[in-house]
Amino acid sequence: MRIATRILAVIALSSAVLVAVTSGQVPKGKIGYDDTPMLPGGKWRVHDGTRPQPAAVEAATTPGAPPADARVLFGGTDLSRWQNRKGEPAGWKVEQGAIVVTPKAGDIQTRDEFGDIQLHVEWATPSTVVGDGQDRGNSGVFLMARYEVQVLDSFRSPTYPDGQAAAIYGQWPPLVNASRPPGEWQVYDILFTAPRFENGNLVTPGYLTVFHNGVAVHNHTAVIGGTAHKVVGKYEPHPARGPIRLQDHGNPVRYRNIWVRELGKYDGT
Ligand code: MG
Repeated sequence: MRIATRILAVIALSSAVLVAVTSGQVPKGKIGYDDTPMLPGGKWRVHDGTRPQPAAVEAATTPGAPPADARVLFGGTDLSRWQNRKGEPAGWKVEQGAIVVTPKAGDIQTRDEFGDIQLHVEWATPSTVVGDGQDRGNSGVFLMARYEVQVLDSFRSPTYPDGQAAAIYGQWPPLVNASRPPGEWQVYDILFTAPRFENGNLVTPGYLTVFHNGVAVHNHTAVIGGTAHKVVGKYEPHPARGPIRLQDHGNPVRYRNIWVRELGKYDGT
Protein backbone atom coordinates (compact mmCIF):
# COMPACT_ATOMS: atom_id res chain seq x y z
CA MET A 1 0.00 0.00 0.00
CA ARG A 2 1.42 3.37 -0.93
CA ILE A 3 1.92 5.85 1.90
CA ALA A 4 -0.75 8.24 0.63
CA THR A 5 -3.24 5.38 0.44
CA ARG A 6 -2.34 4.30 3.97
CA ILE A 7 -2.86 7.82 5.27
CA LEU A 8 -6.25 7.96 3.60
CA ALA A 9 -7.19 4.58 5.08
CA VAL A 10 -6.22 5.78 8.57
CA ILE A 11 -8.27 8.97 8.12
CA ALA A 12 -11.29 6.97 6.94
CA LEU A 13 -11.03 4.57 9.90
CA SER A 14 -10.62 7.46 12.37
CA SER A 15 -13.73 9.16 10.95
CA ALA A 16 -15.75 5.96 11.33
CA VAL A 17 -14.61 5.62 14.94
CA LEU A 18 -15.32 9.31 15.63
CA VAL A 19 -18.84 8.98 14.19
CA ALA A 20 -19.49 5.90 16.30
CA VAL A 21 -18.14 7.55 19.44
CA THR A 22 -20.11 10.78 18.97
CA SER A 23 -23.30 8.76 18.49
CA GLY A 24 -22.72 7.12 21.85
CA GLN A 25 -21.51 3.75 20.62
CA VAL A 26 -18.13 2.14 20.99
CA PRO A 27 -17.56 0.04 17.89
CA LYS A 28 -16.42 -3.51 18.40
CA GLY A 29 -14.56 -3.93 15.18
CA LYS A 30 -15.64 -2.85 11.76
CA ILE A 31 -19.17 -1.52 11.27
CA GLY A 32 -21.16 -2.79 8.33
CA TYR A 33 -19.93 -4.00 4.97
CA ASP A 34 -17.91 -2.67 2.06
CA ASP A 35 -18.51 -5.52 -0.38
CA THR A 36 -22.27 -5.31 -0.70
CA PRO A 37 -24.23 -3.97 -3.71
CA MET A 38 -24.84 -0.26 -4.14
CA LEU A 39 -28.29 1.06 -3.23
CA PRO A 40 -30.21 3.04 -5.86
CA GLY A 41 -28.61 6.44 -6.23
CA GLY A 42 -25.12 4.99 -6.13
CA LYS A 43 -24.02 6.69 -2.91
CA TRP A 44 -24.19 3.96 -0.26
CA ARG A 45 -23.84 0.23 -0.16
CA VAL A 46 -26.35 -2.05 1.56
CA HIS A 47 -25.36 -2.01 5.28
CA ASP A 48 -22.74 0.62 4.54
CA GLY A 49 -20.76 1.23 7.73
CA THR A 50 -19.49 4.60 6.54
CA ARG A 51 -23.01 5.97 6.10
CA PRO A 52 -23.55 8.81 8.65
CA GLN A 53 -25.16 7.85 11.93
CA PRO A 54 -28.57 9.50 12.45
CA ALA A 55 -28.46 12.24 15.09
CA ALA A 56 -29.27 11.03 18.58
CA VAL A 57 -32.47 12.46 20.09
CA GLU A 58 -33.47 11.97 23.69
CA ALA A 59 -37.05 10.72 23.60
CA ALA A 60 -39.47 11.69 26.37
CA THR A 61 -40.11 9.17 29.14
CA THR A 62 -43.76 10.16 29.38
CA PRO A 63 -45.88 9.32 26.33
CA GLY A 64 -46.89 12.49 24.53
CA ALA A 65 -44.25 14.65 26.20
CA PRO A 66 -41.88 16.55 23.90
CA PRO A 67 -38.62 14.85 22.92
CA ALA A 68 -35.44 16.83 23.57
CA ASP A 69 -35.29 18.35 20.08
CA ALA A 70 -38.91 19.56 19.97
CA ARG A 71 -39.91 23.21 20.08
CA VAL A 72 -42.57 23.58 22.77
CA LEU A 73 -45.25 25.97 21.49
CA PHE A 74 -47.36 25.78 24.62
CA GLY A 75 -46.14 24.09 27.77
CA GLY A 76 -48.92 25.18 30.14
CA THR A 77 -48.08 28.69 31.18
CA ASP A 78 -47.99 31.40 28.55
CA LEU A 79 -48.79 32.40 24.99
CA SER A 80 -45.44 34.00 24.26
CA ARG A 81 -44.99 31.91 21.11
CA TRP A 82 -48.41 32.95 19.75
CA GLN A 83 -50.01 36.05 18.27
CA ASN A 84 -53.21 37.00 16.53
CA ARG A 85 -53.55 37.22 12.75
CA LYS A 86 -52.48 40.86 12.83
CA GLY A 87 -49.28 40.09 14.72
CA GLU A 88 -50.61 41.45 18.02
CA PRO A 89 -50.42 39.51 21.31
CA ALA A 90 -52.70 36.47 21.35
CA GLY A 91 -55.96 37.32 23.13
CA TRP A 92 -56.88 33.85 24.36
CA LYS A 93 -56.97 32.92 28.05
CA VAL A 94 -54.65 30.50 29.78
CA GLU A 95 -56.44 28.61 32.56
CA GLN A 96 -55.29 25.61 34.57
CA GLY A 97 -52.45 24.84 32.23
CA ALA A 98 -54.54 25.07 29.06
CA ILE A 99 -55.17 27.64 26.36
CA VAL A 100 -58.86 28.39 26.06
CA VAL A 101 -60.32 29.63 22.78
CA THR A 102 -61.71 33.01 23.68
CA PRO A 103 -64.59 33.79 21.34
CA LYS A 104 -64.32 37.02 19.37
CA ALA A 105 -60.58 37.24 20.11
CA GLY A 106 -59.97 35.70 16.69
CA ASP A 107 -57.62 32.95 15.58
CA ILE A 108 -54.14 32.70 17.05
CA GLN A 109 -51.02 31.52 15.28
CA THR A 110 -47.41 30.78 16.04
CA ARG A 111 -44.85 33.55 15.75
CA ASP A 112 -42.52 31.01 14.16
CA GLU A 113 -43.12 29.57 10.72
CA PHE A 114 -42.66 26.00 9.62
CA GLY A 115 -42.52 23.76 6.57
CA ASP A 116 -42.47 19.97 7.00
CA ILE A 117 -43.26 19.10 10.61
CA GLN A 118 -44.29 16.62 13.22
CA LEU A 119 -46.89 18.29 15.43
CA HIS A 120 -48.37 17.15 18.73
CA VAL A 121 -51.52 18.91 19.95
CA GLU A 122 -53.89 18.02 22.76
CA TRP A 123 -57.39 19.47 22.82
CA ALA A 124 -60.72 19.14 24.55
CA THR A 125 -64.17 20.35 23.55
CA PRO A 126 -66.36 21.84 26.32
CA SER A 127 -67.70 19.30 28.82
CA THR A 128 -71.00 21.15 28.82
CA VAL A 129 -72.44 20.32 25.43
CA VAL A 130 -73.92 23.26 23.55
CA GLY A 131 -75.14 23.14 19.97
CA ASP A 132 -75.06 20.47 17.29
CA GLY A 133 -72.93 19.47 14.35
CA GLN A 134 -70.51 22.20 13.35
CA ASP A 135 -71.53 24.36 16.32
CA ARG A 136 -70.40 21.81 18.89
CA GLY A 137 -66.85 22.37 20.08
CA ASN A 138 -65.59 23.64 16.75
CA SER A 139 -62.01 24.82 16.38
CA GLY A 140 -59.20 23.65 14.15
CA VAL A 141 -55.49 23.19 13.66
CA PHE A 142 -54.32 24.89 10.47
CA LEU A 143 -50.96 23.90 9.02
CA MET A 144 -49.28 26.86 7.34
CA ALA A 145 -52.41 28.82 8.32
CA ARG A 146 -54.14 27.20 5.34
CA TYR A 147 -54.74 23.49 5.75
CA GLU A 148 -57.19 22.61 8.52
CA VAL A 149 -57.35 19.44 10.54
CA GLN A 150 -60.78 19.89 12.09
CA VAL A 151 -61.32 20.03 15.83
CA LEU A 152 -64.92 19.26 16.78
CA ASP A 153 -67.02 17.32 19.26
CA SER A 154 -67.76 14.32 17.04
CA PHE A 155 -68.58 11.91 19.85
CA ARG A 156 -71.97 10.50 18.86
CA SER A 157 -72.65 13.82 17.13
CA PRO A 158 -72.96 13.44 13.37
CA THR A 159 -72.11 16.15 10.91
CA TYR A 160 -70.95 16.06 7.30
CA PRO A 161 -68.04 13.57 7.37
CA ASP A 162 -65.51 15.86 5.73
CA GLY A 163 -66.13 18.31 8.58
CA GLN A 164 -66.01 16.00 11.59
CA ALA A 165 -63.15 15.78 14.07
CA ALA A 166 -59.84 14.89 12.39
CA ALA A 167 -61.21 15.57 8.91
CA ILE A 168 -59.09 17.52 6.48
CA TYR A 169 -61.82 20.08 6.35
CA GLY A 170 -64.04 19.97 3.29
CA GLN A 171 -61.89 17.29 1.66
CA TRP A 172 -61.19 14.04 3.49
CA PRO A 173 -63.09 12.45 6.37
CA PRO A 174 -60.91 10.58 8.86
CA LEU A 175 -60.60 6.84 8.17
CA VAL A 176 -62.44 6.19 11.43
CA ASN A 177 -64.03 8.25 14.19
CA ALA A 178 -61.69 7.96 17.20
CA SER A 179 -63.40 10.73 19.19
CA ARG A 180 -63.54 10.76 22.97
CA PRO A 181 -66.50 12.21 24.88
CA PRO A 182 -66.80 15.99 25.26
CA GLY A 183 -64.59 17.43 27.99
CA GLU A 184 -61.99 14.67 27.71
CA TRP A 185 -58.50 15.42 26.45
CA GLN A 186 -57.81 14.19 22.93
CA VAL A 187 -54.58 14.03 20.97
CA TYR A 188 -53.50 14.75 17.43
CA ASP A 189 -50.12 13.60 16.23
CA ILE A 190 -49.65 15.04 12.78
CA LEU A 191 -47.03 14.58 10.09
CA PHE A 192 -47.26 17.33 7.51
CA THR A 193 -45.35 17.60 4.27
CA ALA A 194 -45.74 21.09 2.89
CA PRO A 195 -46.76 21.54 -0.74
CA ARG A 196 -44.03 22.58 -3.14
CA PHE A 197 -44.39 25.34 -5.69
CA GLU A 198 -42.13 26.36 -8.53
CA ASN A 199 -42.60 29.54 -10.51
CA GLY A 200 -46.05 29.90 -9.01
CA ASN A 201 -47.14 26.39 -9.97
CA LEU A 202 -47.89 23.47 -7.70
CA VAL A 203 -45.24 20.77 -8.06
CA THR A 204 -46.34 18.43 -5.27
CA PRO A 205 -49.36 18.73 -2.98
CA GLY A 206 -49.24 18.83 0.79
CA TYR A 207 -49.55 15.49 2.58
CA LEU A 208 -51.04 14.72 5.97
CA THR A 209 -50.65 11.69 8.17
CA VAL A 210 -52.72 12.03 11.34
CA PHE A 211 -53.19 9.96 14.47
CA HIS A 212 -56.26 10.80 16.57
CA ASN A 213 -55.89 9.47 20.10
CA GLY A 214 -53.26 7.08 18.77
CA VAL A 215 -55.51 5.81 15.95
CA ALA A 216 -54.34 6.36 12.36
CA VAL A 217 -56.96 8.48 10.59
CA HIS A 218 -54.99 9.80 7.60
CA ASN A 219 -52.22 7.88 5.88
CA HIS A 220 -50.15 10.22 3.72
CA THR A 221 -53.32 11.82 2.39
CA ALA A 222 -52.83 14.34 -0.42
CA VAL A 223 -54.38 17.68 0.48
CA ILE A 224 -56.58 18.99 -2.36
CA GLY A 225 -55.83 22.63 -1.62
CA GLY A 226 -56.37 25.30 1.02
CA THR A 227 -59.28 24.14 3.16
CA ALA A 228 -62.47 26.15 2.78
CA HIS A 229 -66.21 26.17 3.52
CA LYS A 230 -68.66 25.10 0.78
CA VAL A 231 -66.10 25.31 -2.02
CA VAL A 232 -63.41 23.00 -3.37
CA GLY A 233 -60.10 23.90 -1.76
CA LYS A 234 -57.54 25.41 -4.12
CA TYR A 235 -53.81 25.87 -3.90
CA GLU A 236 -52.52 29.39 -3.93
CA PRO A 237 -48.74 29.67 -4.13
CA HIS A 238 -47.26 30.58 -0.78
CA PRO A 239 -43.86 30.67 0.95
CA ALA A 240 -42.11 27.47 1.96
CA ARG A 241 -42.89 28.15 5.61
CA GLY A 242 -45.99 29.32 7.44
CA PRO A 243 -47.41 29.55 10.96
CA ILE A 244 -49.50 26.97 12.78
CA ARG A 245 -52.90 28.50 13.43
CA LEU A 246 -55.64 27.60 15.92
CA GLN A 247 -59.18 28.56 15.01
CA ASP A 248 -61.62 30.70 16.97
CA HIS A 249 -64.96 29.29 15.84
CA GLY A 250 -66.81 30.76 18.81
CA ASN A 251 -66.57 27.71 21.09
CA PRO A 252 -64.35 27.56 24.22
CA VAL A 253 -62.22 24.61 23.13
CA ARG A 254 -59.07 24.03 25.19
CA TYR A 255 -55.54 23.20 24.05
CA ARG A 256 -52.45 22.00 25.90
CA ASN A 257 -49.08 20.32 25.39
CA ILE A 258 -48.37 21.63 21.90
CA TRP A 259 -44.96 20.89 20.43
CA VAL A 260 -43.42 20.68 17.02
CA ARG A 261 -40.38 19.11 15.39
CA GLU A 262 -39.11 20.29 12.06
CA LEU A 263 -38.57 17.37 9.73
CA GLY A 264 -35.21 17.89 8.12
CA LYS A 265 -33.39 15.47 5.94
CA TYR A 266 -31.25 12.67 7.33
CA ASP A 267 -27.75 13.76 6.56
CA GLY A 268 -26.71 10.60 4.76
CA THR A 269 -29.39 10.02 2.13
MG1 MG B 1 -62.96 24.20 12.49
